[in-house]
Amino acid sequence: MKVVKFGGSSMADAGQYRKIREILMADPERRVVVVSAAGKRFSGDHKITDLLYLCHAHTQYGVDCSNIFEMIRSRYLEIRDELGIKLDLESEFSALKSGLDRKMVSQDELASRGEYFSAKLMAAFLGFQFVDAADWIRFKFDGSVDQEASYALLKDRYKDFGIVIPGFYGMMPDGKIRTFTRGGSDITGALAAAALDADVYENWTDVSGILMADPRIVDDPQTIPQVTYDELRELSYSGAQVLHEGTIFPVREKNIPLNIRNTNAPNDPGTMIKEAFDGDSDPDRFITGITGKKDFSVISLSKRGLSGQVGYLRKVLSIFERHNVSIDYVPNGIDNVSVVMPTEAVSSSLYTIMAEIQKELEPDSLTVHDQIAVVAAVGRKMAFRPGISGKIFATLGEAGVNIRMINQGPDELNIIFGVDNKDFKTAIRVLYDSFVK
Ligand code: ADP
Ligand code: ASP
Ligand code: MG
Repeated sequence: MKVVKFGGSSMADAGQYRKIREILMADPERRVVVVSAAGKRFSGDHKITDLLYLCHAHTQYGVDCSNIFEMIRSRYLEIRDELGIKLDLESEFSALKSGLDRKMVSQDELASRGEYFSAKLMAAFLGFQFVDAADWIRFKFDGSVDQEASYALLKDRYKDFGIVIPGFYGMMPDGKIRTFTRGGSDITGALAAAALDADVYENWTDVSGILMADPRIVDDPQTIPQVTYDELRELSYSGAQVLHEGTIFPVREKNIPLNIRNTNAPNDPGTMIKEAFDGDSDPDRFITGITGKKDFSVISLSKRGLSGQVGYLRKVLSIFERHNVSIDYVPNGIDNVSVVMPTEAVSSSLYTIMAEIQKELEPDSLTVHDQIAVVAAVGRKMAFRPGISGKIFATLGEAGVNIRMINQGPDELNIIFGVDNKDFKTAIRVLYDSFVK
């Protein structure tokens, strides 16, 4: 059995619902369907979830949100009527609106209604059974999901027939609705797949898989056919955001492969994500993807004899800890160390931190560089190729890109380097052109 999740753009209008029905009919194993709220139909359009948050904010300030509410309501009624579905949504919408007017609907509950109405409609359209996420996804009071309880509840509900589940939310121990963070329907799908021991979790979206680089930087980048969970984690951490970061854990734990697919190009194989792959589909390709983020700060200190001093690294790091600054990378050399984090994370405490480093470690030099972009080349096969980092740096050097810091993880899954913000796009393009094309 396959669990299939359809994202916002896949649920945006009646035409998309029809495509989904075709996709389900093409494979009878696709029996558990998780859906998002209706997303954008065209650029400039509104996502239903955004409108729901906006509506709630209005009522909080005592401002009438009837216009926004009507935009939400009519989107769903339009889909219903165009598909000829018989379903009374009007009374549910008016009950919701009157609860809202009396300030009886929490932000999370209102935000969750996008997925709720999507699932109601999709279930009626497919002739599948609607299974509410609030009836099986159980949060603990600390906000984490009670996997054991949730899995048992869903297993109990599912008996081999087709079901549709709304993504994005579940229930707290006190019975209140709680949502995941934005993009969280991906997690709902992963939890359903894990609960039911699915053969595969298909995540259907508007691209034919994970791209090797950001399409806004590289023209028409290739799709990654296969990627391991570890590589995906590196790619998402350093910038490629296709799945919610909470998606991997539940499926990985049960060793369920994850397949990213395109609702608008259902014959494309998409990206397959697994623990490991036997055989190598493309032996000449040793970089899986290239990503990055801008606006980091690099604080560097050097001192003769530093590496001989016991505990110096702990002293440096504890200064950041005291100021509650979370650090991304700590590249170091023999007598120097750099600490790298998003500028935003350190900006309010930077001068105090610098003063404390100066006082406690008495370095020979202490510098800050900001406007640094971190670029990551990720690939499970890099470990087996000597001289990759040398080649990367030579290539960047030829393109006139200065490298400000270098960091390679111990598992050699990635090479991370810092460049000036202004060189960010050039660095990604140059790497893509020379290592992928
Ligand atoms: P959904 O609504 O289906 O959950 P999302 O908008 O959350 O879809 O995620 C899909 C989007 O992720 C794509 O449309 C694309 O713009 C974006 N994206 C960012 N980085 C990448 C990447 N490396 N590969 C593919 N898509 C990417
Ligand atoms: N609709 C929610 C959001 O926009 C959840 C999701 O689409 O995954 O964030
Ligand atoms: Mg998403």
